[in-house]
Amino acid sequence: MAHSALAPGAGRYAPSPSGDLHFGNLRTALLAWLCARSTGRQFHVRVEDIDTQRSTAAAAKRQLEDLANLGLDWDGEVVHQHDRYAAYEQALARLPVYECYCSRKDIQEAARAPHAIPGQYPGACRNLDEVARARKRAELAAQGRVPALRLRAEVSSFSIHDLLRGEYTGEVDDFILRRGGNADQGQDWAYNLAVVVDDAFQGVDQVVRGVDLLSSAPRQAYLAQVLGYPVPEYIHVPLVLNAAGKRLSKRDGAVTLRQLLKTHTLGEVFAQLAASLGSEAKNTAELLKGFDVLDIPREPYVWRPQ
Ligand code: GLU
Repeated sequence: MAHSALAPGAGRYAPSPSGDLHFGNLRTALLAWLCARSTGRQFHVRVEDIDTQRSTAAAAKRQLEDLANLGLDWDGEVVHQHDRYAAYEQALARLPVYECYCSRKDIQEAARAPHAIPGQYPGACRNLDEVARARKRAELAAQGRVPALRLRAEVSSFSIHDLLRGEYTGEVDDFILRRGGNADQGQDWAYNLAVVVDDAFQGVDQVVRGVDLLSSAPRQAYLAQVLGYPVPEYIHVPLVLNAAGKRLSKRDGAVTLRQLLKTHTLGEVFAQLAASLGSEAKNTAELLKGFDVLDIPREPYVWRPQ
């Protein structure tokens, strides 16, 4: 695929293929498409299948069919993260990193220390000398395992600009770029690295996604800056919630497009999606006509079966 750096810029939708898209996913996809198209950008789709345990090719295929069925079109070929490992490797080679030998249990224990910051890597492996590293590496190797790689971050927080939320400052720690694991199996690339490398590759300068990922944006923007990539514009959109106020999930009944189409027409599903954005549009073209990024509802949408 040609690099799209000369194009006017692009938005994207980047689902993880671990199941069928539900109403909340579809609404975010629709918003990403609207934000891109209404600002003259290209729109790309990326299959985020680096989580090899949870991703399936069949789910990816169904997700793409669902997006097309809804009237969302995209430019260029769909990028699959499983084809991009060489690019992640190249990016990794340009980053300050260190090996981390900590098990999940080590990290949990260190996190209980009095000055630990919840959710942040406590940094046990950051300042080990070469002798200690060699010993820990050998200990892991004896178990058939290899260490994880972490970014040696030079900041502890970073600010991004979100079009709906204004300036947002969030924590940046020495987050993982490549997971540790069994020496004889491939190691998993971390989402934060993959997303930054792929957005740059696809010429993405507008990131639209659910607000549940807002707290990841400072890490990703910082990483983009370290790699010398432009930092995209962010638009973190409100989630779709269930009646109990929790994020909609497949446990909430018939919520995937495929389930909904057993009892509703596509037009009816689209009408509910449009209604969730305060519109009576009947298709994507109509919805696009009156769309303005700043009119995106700021409150979550509560899903109710129609
Ligand atoms: N693959 C992620 C998800 O499905 C989205 C990542 C992103 O939009 O940056 O939740």
